[in-house]
Amino acid sequence: MQAPMNNHRNGQSAAGSLEQLVSSLQPNIAGILDRALLGQDITAEEAEALFGVSGLELSALVMVADELRHRTVGDVVTYVVNRNINFTNVCIKRCGFCAFSRDHREEEGYFIPTGEIVRRAREAWDLGATEVCIQAGLPPQMEGNLYVKLCEAVKSELPDIHVHGFSPEEVLYGSVRSRSTIREYLQALQQAGVGSLPGTSAEILDQEMRDRISPGRISVDQWTEVITTAHDLGIPTTSTIMYGHAETDGHKARHIALIRDIQKATGGFTEFVPLGFIHTEAPMYGHKLVDGVREGPTGTETVKVHAISRLMLNNWIPNLQVSWVKEGLKFGQYMLATGVNDMGGTLINESISTAAGAQHGQLVRPRELHHAIRDAGRIPAERHTTYDRMHVFEGEEDPQHPLDSLEGNLEEIFGSYQRMVKMEGFRFQHPRSAASAGSELAGSNEASPSPSSPTSSG
Ligand code: SF4
Repeated sequence: MQAPMNNHRNGQSAAGSLEQLVSSLQPNIAGILDRALLGQDITAEEAEALFGVSGLELSALVMVADELRHRTVGDVVTYVVNRNINFTNVCIKRCGFCAFSRDHREEEGYFIPTGEIVRRAREAWDLGATEVCIQAGLPPQMEGNLYVKLCEAVKSELPDIHVHGFSPEEVLYGSVRSRSTIREYLQALQQAGVGSLPGTSAEILDQEMRDRISPGRISVDQWTEVITTAHDLGIPTTSTIMYGHAETDGHKARHIALIRDIQKATGGFTEFVPLGFIHTEAPMYGHKLVDGVREGPTGTETVKVHAISRLMLNNWIPNLQVSWVKEGLKFGQYMLATGVNDMGGTLINESISTAAGAQHGQLVRPRELHHAIRDAGRIPAERHTTYDRMHVFEGEEDPQHPLDSLEGNLEEIFGSYQRMVKMEGFRFQHPRSAASAGSELAGSNEASPSPSSPTSSG
């Protein structure tokens, strides 16, 4: 074992224990972990081999991931106070894993108008949120500039709030609907004040796999174009993977390697977020639409994905997030030992995983995050979206955040996905009927979809 071990925690004895453990493993696994500890990038093939480990080798993998995390980002665990605004669930696509979307004819289709989006952003800001995360379905015949106008409306009311919004799929849809290029559309969003883009709609960046689980979804090339163009313009993005469905270990390893390659070229990713597939309400699971689809990842698989992500990305994307929405706060807390240094956001209104059957609620308060982080032996810190730290809560200091002091039924205060789909007030109206009623959804400058429009496959 040649790695220069960091002597944190129990000093040389901890380093020696890890050395001993690694040296007792099968040579091929020991070699991969050794190289990671030496600060070298491991290959996609080596990562794939790590997905096969169990027993002592798995323990060693987790310990190496934790060691690399400590060396690179220390013991602080960050989170952001934010609010999700998933302003419509009506979507022209039919992704097999998505339980959130509704056809425009379905009764549960909703559409939150701009004024209400701004009101929700204002409410979050007044409660100490620094970010709104705006993502939604792709409503039919949408006004091309809707996302730009939304962003402008929020920023003109709240110039200091960070708008983290519009996935690559939405950027592509907006550009098609407005007959502009992806670059032009991103420039318009940038001028409107968008702060960063979610690197969602990635799932597994393998075209054959995408064609199986979500035919018609944004392609690998298009996703990469949106992301690299955003980075080129100076708009940072997150990066994600969705796993635990029909993909192989090779798919996961190559996906993370592609994210790493993009980061080497652009440096624009702020974080990497593994997202476990939630099968409960997913059409491709319920209707058996995809051969071999699984009931989401196992706990061991979730541990491996986080730990291997740390090994592969440590030199390039220092921030690895666990999703409490997918894993719950308890298992999410355990993930802190697998290379993770971020617990995501408070969210306030989580809809997409809730619709899929996630049982972990729609909001987590800062004090709950602090408790989980401290209990894991780490230091909580509130951050901005782009990872500059606002406040590190050293020692026992724990000032009460406005979200901590809220009493009563939070669903009544903030609304919820379950309530939204039943409310008449925000019922989706198709643009054909909305136009006569003057709805903002169908703007006068809307364009018909081009032959390559995503609507043709939606
Ligand atoms: S595009 Fe988004 S909202 Fe629409 S079906 Fe796919 S994942 Fe769901």
